[in-house]
Amino acid sequence: MPELPEVETVRRTLNELVLDKQIDHVTVNLRRIIQLPEEPDEFCLLLAGQTIHSVERRGKFLRFVLDDYTLVSHLRMEGRYGLYDRNDPLEPHTHVVFHFTDGSELRYKDVRQFGTMHLFPKGRELEEKPLNKLGLEPLEDTFTLDAFKGRLAGRSTKIKPLLLNQEYIVGIGNIYVDESLYMAGIHPEREADSLSRRELAALYEAIVRTLKEAVAAGGSSIKSYVNGQGEIGLFQHQFKVYGRQGEPCQTCARPIVKSVVAGRGTHFCPKCQPLKQKRVKKAAVR
Ligand SMILES: [Zn+2]
Repeated sequence: MPELPEVETVRRTLNELVLDKQIDHVTVNLRRIIQLPEEPDEFCLLLAGQTIHSVERRGKFLRFVLDDYTLVSHLRMEGRYGLYDRNDPLEPHTHVVFHFTDGSELRYKDVRQFGTMHLFPKGRELEEKPLNKLGLEPLEDTFTLDAFKGRLAGRSTKIKPLLLNQEYIVGIGNIYVDESLYMAGIHPEREADSLSRRELAALYEAIVRTLKEAVAAGGSSIKSYVNGQGEIGLFQHQFKVYGRQGEPCQTCARPIVKSVVAGRGTHFCPKCQPLKQKRVKKAAVR
């Protein structure tokens, strides 16, 4: 599934490709992609004549800001956008086509068919599902060390599932959680409230650095991720632990281990990321 760096790369590419284009009409070939409004016909009707003013991102969601509406799009497993000429042959699994007045077309392809689109009156999208419960944006100025600590405070949950939960922090999925925890030297099964102030600061720095480096590399290409122009990201070559089980740790040379934490394949170095026990205050005994 694309995570923040991949969606951000798609967003930047789309901003170059479709800015100021006016939608003439829309074709929906697979109803289930359109979640709101319920009727795809209404979706098409509302979009006709609208111009795309910007493409923004909230967590792993793309937001197409139009004249009167905002289109919220989630790529889920394998959704992808591409800009085509109207005469280009339609590729299989093309489920939604935005036909522009200049003869070009933005096509949404999705082999797995898990992607979603919601259309809201402009501004309303932040107050309703699926965007209304999303947590902190890790690459915005609002993501400070204090805000990060605040989200984790008093949570005895294991740190990995907590970081994956989009209601706390958005955009980090399995890859970037594993990479951030490795960089910070924290075992994925540590309880969140057992982390010291130093560890919290290290983890905060690691999340920001990992995401920034991944965005700079155009995201990671695993499975079928490509950006809006069919280009692949390169951050997978910088993975330190993800997908590297059995390979030597770059710090201590012991083999990277893969296990399952909270139902997700999890990669870490048992030496550099020790599973320390929660410190229990001993009662004074005299
Ligand atoms: Zn190590």
